[in-house]
Amino acid sequence: MAKTLFDKIWDKHVVQQVQDGPSVLYIDKHFIHEVTSPQAFKGLEKRGLKVFRPQQVVATADHNVPTINQHLPIKDELSRIQVQQLIENCKKHDIELYGLGHPFQGIVHVIGPELGITQPGMTIVCGDSHTSTHGAFGAIAFGIGTSEVEMVFASQCLLQSHPKLMRINIDGELPDGVVSKDIILYIISKITSSGATGYFVEYAGSAIRALSMEARMTICNMSIEMGARGGMIAPDETTFAYMKGRQFAPGNGQWEEKLEQWKTLFSDEGAVFDKEIFIKAEEIEPMITYGTNPGLGIAINGTIPVADSIPDEGERKNIIKALQYMGLEPGKPLLGMPVQHVFIGSCTNSRIEDLRQVAALVKGRKKNEHVHVMIVPGSQQVARQVKAEGLDKVFAEAGFEVRQAGCSACLGMNEDKIPAGEYCISTSNRNFEGRQGAGARTLLASPLTAAAAAITGVVTDVRDLTPRPPEGGVGKTTKEAIN
Ligand code: SF4
Repeated sequence: MAKTLFDKIWDKHVVQQVQDGPSVLYIDKHFIHEVTSPQAFKGLEKRGLKVFRPQQVVATADHNVPTINQHLPIKDELSRIQVQQLIENCKKHDIELYGLGHPFQGIVHVIGPELGITQPGMTIVCGDSHTSTHGAFGAIAFGIGTSEVEMVFASQCLLQSHPKLMRINIDGELPDGVVSKDIILYIISKITSSGATGYFVEYAGSAIRALSMEARMTICNMSIEMGARGGMIAPDETTFAYMKGRQFAPGNGQWEEKLEQWKTLFSDEGAVFDKEIFIKAEEIEPMITYGTNPGLGIAINGTIPVADSIPDEGERKNIIKALQYMGLEPGKPLLGMPVQHVFIGSCTNSRIEDLRQVAALVKGRKKNEHVHVMIVPGSQQVARQVKAEGLDKVFAEAGFEVRQAGCSACLGMNEDKIPAGEYCISTSNRNFEGRQGAGARTLLASPLTAAAAAITGVVTDVRDLTPRPPEGGVGKTTKEAIN
């Protein structure tokens, strides 16, 4: 019988099926960080238990870490305590920790893939909703709550009900200036922030196959923003090429054997999904959000919806409230609106490919004097690569501030906050009220759209940026720079 990619992995990991209930699912890899693990460790110790398989657990510090002067003690007391607790807990339970100062430290969803820990066919969990990122490798990866973190610590298993399955097919060629962030913002704007609730989503189609691994991670990362349990993409030659030679990827002795297994990981012809959606890549434009959930997004050259025209009362009220918080008017465009901050980072868009795209666009240009621009690499490895490729110089010449690795201004949990009432174009994944700091107003967009706003100081269609000054007599248009 034809099977979905999801079921091929799920079936291999079911340890026991509870009658008329959930499955006991074996978990291959458990990522932890400083925010959601302390209570789970406490609960475990209260019951006199030890971590069952510490070698399957990997820890890092990301949410609470400062992004400047990481060599100094953390100033914020709560952050300092949480990071310290993680160190102590990992030591006590013999768990590998890539903490502050470690060359592998970074955002948990950036380091797993770049170190080759995330692999096709795995079940992966973390006490963090954006664990869906790892699904880009053809893994079942999803976020879990604190009590579930404790369950996985104690048993390396998790009680889970089989979700409904959705496939989103995107075929065709992406227009100029459109990147993976635009794809996922477009999908969420179409199906809403609750449109995939109860589903696990597989992304397929020629436009998805043409994406790099970094771009696929951006898409899977934001699956959770439409309510999905997780997102996944079948592994292929792009996946295998990305993985080969990474620190913890299978070595030469095992590589061929693993490759044979990974090549069987795809949805069979005729596999049945509970729901299928078809999208033409050519329809997608650079996207930006105007509201307080990632589903409230429009094409960059569109206008903010007029709430009266929305038939659903709940949705109408939601948009009115969102626009009040955002200080925006219905029926108006966002293009040309001044912004005070640009944040390029987070587990959605802080990988080397994102930063290369930004550098290609801003090379030879200067940021607008009224905008504060923060570039925050997702990991120490990305930060080293930025330097090795000289991107740091490009950013410095443009007037961008390059910080050290961490979650940074993705959420107001560390020192990098956006002041109340000010606008920030952010490459992160959430624009909820207060997400980047109390009263902060977040506009989600791609790294290209964020970089364009950094240059002009206003919301800008990256396709309209004037050609930059000639270099050595040969001018490059924006289109050339970003393609
Ligand atoms: S970057 Fe943002 S969304 Fe990603 S793990 Fe950190 S806080 Fe969560």
